[in-house]
Amino acid sequence: MRCPFCAAHDTRVIDSRLNNEGDQVRRRRECVACKERFTTYEVAEISLPPLVKRNGVREAFNEGKLRAGMLRALEKRPVSSEDVEAAVTRIKQALIAKGEREVQAQELGELVMKELSALDHVAFVRFASVYRSFQDVSEFTDMINNLSKI
Ligand SMILES: [Zn+2]
Repeated sequence: MRCPFCAAHDTRVIDSRLNNEGDQVRRRRECVACKERFTTYEVAEISLPPLVKRNGVREAFNEGKLRAGMLRALEKRPVSSEDVEAAVTRIKQALIAKGEREVQAQELGELVMKELSALDHVAFVRFASVYRSFQDVSEFTDMINNLSKI
């Protein structure tokens, strides 16, 4: 790891620790040449399968978009960002666990709805009403009535 201060190549790790979720390592480093200290973060690179949309178009999985969609549904709702991050992580893990080369966008939508229904029912209904193209009103009310069963 090159020193960001003097560009020397020799830096040594003086401290390493895992974050609470255990999926990121934070390392404190010191430059052997100029003695400046800096921090690096290490995360495992996991490639998520691409999404296939309803119209058949393939799209790279975009975690930012997933999070933004969930946060939009959760706007002004009493849900902590830690809980949202945990939900995003569970969704990604579920997609990876499927072990398939591609994922239907609908499957991702169902995973998001499952997480939102556990986090906050208002957010769930908001998301579902946008996500699902309802055929008629009864389909929508059926789903709301089924909320407690999910
Ligand atoms: Zn240096």
